[in-house]
Amino acid sequence: MSSDCDIVAQWLSEARSAVTFTGAGISTESGIPDFRSPGGVWSRTQPVYYDDFLNSADSRLEYWRQKSESHVDFSDASPNIAHQALARWEAGRQMRGIITQNIDGLHQIAGSQSVLELHGTAREIGCLDCNSRFDADLMVTQFNETGEVPVCPHCSGLLKHATISFGQSLDETVLREAIGWCRDADLFLAMGSSLVVQPAAGLPTLARESGARLVIINREPTPLDHIADMVLHAGIGETIAAIEKAMIGAS
Ligand code: NAD
Ligand code: ZN
Repeated sequence: MSSDCDIVAQWLSEARSAVTFTGAGISTESGIPDFRSPGGVWSRTQPVYYDDFLNSADSRLEYWRQKSESHVDFSDASPNIAHQALARWEAGRQMRGIITQNIDGLHQIAGSQSVLELHGTAREIGCLDCNSRFDADLMVTQFNETGEVPVCPHCSGLLKHATISFGQSLDETVLREAIGWCRDADLFLAMGSSLVVQPAAGLPTLARESGARLVIINREPTPLDHIADMVLHAGIGETIAAIEKAMIGAS
């Protein structure tokens, strides 16, 4: 694996507009379960669809119950070696930014500033009527204490985590910017994503078709492995550490 990491380090040092794409797999080493691995979220709960959230008080209660359960995973988690290395690469100008499917906010906590959150953030709650934002910790604590689904203190509107639920459209502005980054990218590193959820899974393909080198780092095979210039089937932390070590060694 180390010679493969040397090659990726070389590509990264040559890149002018590298983009990283991250999925839940980058945060498993921070203790946050992913969705599709054994023991992942989908083996335990059924998600609440957006329409059901809008139309049924029971669904809203179930949504808040699930979200307060998973909130503990987020609030206790810290960035790991991979989040930290990506933040350093942005500061060192090797990286234009990160497009993430994650909702855990760990890239920003690690210090990354250029982050496009395709699926929003679980660290905030949004009012669906007046768009006010609230800190998720406070609202979740309130829900845990009262067992009642909170409503917007400003307009009594429905409150939901600022994440994209199943059946809800992505934010057009964020998606458009992500597409622009993919078109301009000369190196695209996809890591910790099963690359099966659309439209996010289409972004590595777009970058590759627009001329970027595509590197996939994932423990398991993905449907896009056959179009990648390099596939590393390994843990993300150890792989990123090896790439960073090779970059430092070569400089
Ligand atoms: P996924 O669960 O579908 O896939 C994760 C992939 O990462 C799997 O293929 C797994 O083999 C791999 N993986 C896990 N840990 C790894 C490690 N340490 N090293 C290397 N590979 C590892 O995740 P996804 O593709 O991001 O899609 C699921 C959706 O779930 C996303 O839309 C995201 O919004 C949401 N989600 C987010 C979080 C989070 O924010 N941390 C957690 C769970 C789910
Ligand atoms: Zn409101």
